[in-house]
Amino acid sequence: MSSAPPRFPEIRRDVVFNRSVIFSPARSRRPSDFKSHSPNKSPNPNPNYSTPSCPFCRGREHECAPEIFRIPHETDQWKIRVIENLYPALRRELEPSVLGEGAVIGFGIHDVVIETPFHGVHLPDLSQAEVGEVVVSYRERVCQLAKNGLLEYVQVFKNYGASAGASMTHSHSQIIGLPFVPPTVSARFDSLKEHFDKSGKCGLCEAHSEDILINESNHFSAIVPFAASFPFEVWIIPRDHASYFHDLDEKKAIDFGGLLKLILSKLSKQLNDPPYNFMIHSSPFHLSPPHLPYAHWFMQIVPQLNVIGGFEIGSGCYINPVFPEDAAKVLREVNLTTS
Ligand code: AMP
Ligand code: ZN
Ligand code: ZN
Repeated sequence: MSSAPPRFPEIRRDVVFNRSVIFSPARSRRPSDFKSHSPNKSPNPNPNYSTPSCPFCRGREHECAPEIFRIPHETDQWKIRVIENLYPALRRELEPSVLGEGAVIGFGIHDVVIETPFHGVHLPDLSQAEVGEVVVSYRERVCQLAKNGLLEYVQVFKNYGASAGASMTHSHSQIIGLPFVPPTVSARFDSLKEHFDKSGKCGLCEAHSEDILINESNHFSAIVPFAASFPFEVWIIPRDHASYFHDLDEKKAIDFGGLLKLILSKLSKQLNDPPYNFMIHSSPFHLSPPHLPYAHWFMQIVPQLNVIGGFEIGSGCYINPVFPEDAAKVLREVNLTTS
């Protein structure tokens, strides 16, 4: 791969999601000119500010659905709460059963992780250790769900900003446990298997080349993937092969928290506090051992800078105006110490 970006469009194949992505450099904008048009500036910069209607603020716990656990345990001065979702997409109390051809009862788990007691504080405003504790709370909950024999896959995700799907402004993320393996996850494994069968390599172990690298921590690399579907998309990948997110130990969770904080801070500064989604892509719970050599968990962070249009919906191909090498260079060079 050359370091000087080509001036002509390029089609790249993403071996992880099995997608083709068209890189078509924006005619009028340099990579460093990309900014969000719908930034999410906090409604009140005072971190202790609590909106009268926010059930996620400390002191309003009674307005929430039941709590699963809090960190630290058994204190009013909680830092993180994992609670049931009041309006769940799937219902935990239902008995899984078949309704008819192609339809089963909507059994599943839908939880909310309240990442801070304070309304005006966002995830990257927390310290590295505190972001690490949020990651530990995800891990604790996924470990609990892994013991529920009815679940096949768990998705941890965050919506930040209204145009990224968030309905609540208080910093939070969500966890959904599914009684089946979703099709994009199966497609990811099929594609990674095909790559492994051809090359003998895990597509994520080998995804760290220098020109797409943004930052590294002791155990993780943050990259703009070679065939990123979205401008300034970032993946945070464990450098050592690891199949399951919930096998992460405490030390690595804090290390991961530091890199996540750094990347979210850089995206916020460079792109004008854009709406974003992040997703932890782990492996299905009941994966058989032959699949493990190419099952490698990672986090995908997608700033929402473009609207998905008819071509993307129709073809499943994405058009990305920013070459990954250029986005990685811009993000590598963001200086968080200057305003
Ligand atoms: P989002 O829509 O991504 O901002 O996620 C917020 C989630 O919080 C939604 O899925 C809501 O159903 C859920 N939610 C809203 N109010 C409450 C509440 N009082 N207790 C528990 N969950 C809630
Ligand atoms: Zn709040
Ligand atoms: Zn790997």
